[in-house]
Amino acid sequence: PRITLLAGGVGGAKLAVGLTAVCAPEQLTVIGNVADDQEFHGLWVSPDIDTLTYSLAGLIDREKGWGLANESHRVLDGLARLGRDTWMYLGDQDLATHIYRTELRRQGLRPSAIAQSIAQSLGVTLNLVLPTDDRLQTRVKTAAGWLAFQEYFVREQCRPEVLDIHIDGLAEARPTPEALAAIEAADLLLIAPSNPVVSIAPILEIPGVRQAVERSHARRIAVSPLIGGRTVKGPADRMLVAAGFACSNLGVADSYAGLIDGLVIDAQDAGDATALAKRGLALKITRTLMTGAADKARLAREVLAFAGQPH
Ligand code: GDP
Ligand code: CA
Repeated sequence: PRITLLAGGVGGAKLAVGLTAVCAPEQLTVIGNVADDQEFHGLWVSPDIDTLTYSLAGLIDREKGWGLANESHRVLDGLARLGRDTWMYLGDQDLATHIYRTELRRQGLRPSAIAQSIAQSLGVTLNLVLPTDDRLQTRVKTAAGWLAFQEYFVREQCRPEVLDIHIDGLAEARPTPEALAAIEAADLLLIAPSNPVVSIAPILEIPGVRQAVERSHARRIAVSPLIGGRTVKGPADRMLVAAGFACSNLGVADSYAGLIDGLVIDAQDAGDATALAKRGLALKITRTLMTGAADKARLAREVLAFAGQPH
């Protein structure tokens, strides 16, 4: 079977890694999120795509969950001496990725071709595609005004209350042919346990993508990012509320209304099952926390079995 996964950063990468343990890489396409992208020190940084790439390449800093393992920060410390802001504390090796990406963008290469080239160079064997080559930028409204996503997420550490969320460029963005083809060709369409509002919506709401998912004949399954009604990490629970959804698996399901046939939820949230079943969803209730490699592979295997594609 051909499997296409829509994924954000950390939660997306965990399920993507699990799938690589139970499927052949030729079967797998991951569509990542580019709405977190931001420029730092003149360099184009693509945090969610890099998290996917570094995780799939086995190079991720496991403790932090982002960036490369065994990093140094000599360049950023040098920039700090020059009076630059260094709250986005990029590592030296990570900067190599951003330098290379920025150079190729300046040469006019498509961002999706650049992402593929970086992934291949680092040893990623599955197909990593961008949902669009156009620029998207998530902004978060707080009491102090609108912040760029990374200012909210990294500099302010998600502390301010989220009043509103907007993704600039979404209405005008065009999907990449690779993303549309991966959705159309899929036998199984998966949505990772990622932030529905700022990781998955910026993929689904690119004009044409939602329609492709609606038209798909694939079985469509999402894994909830909530455990015990809360996020494992990050602001997805609060962001669901800011986007007008309930802070629960019902809110997650509603945010994917018409786009999924089934939902995988954690055993801690088994109480949601009746209400979710009333929405016509097939349900799989299991342990969804992925701590180590064995957990990721087990959840991936369970998701495939639930979708009728046992491995
Ligand atoms: P980000 O871009 O790095 O913020 O990552 P994503 O959007 O891909 O994922 C963020 C979401 O992943 C959060 O809402 C977490 O609750 C969820 N998440 C992280 N690890 C796990 C896990 O092991 N299991 C489940 N079910 N959700 C997880
Ligand atoms: Ca992200």
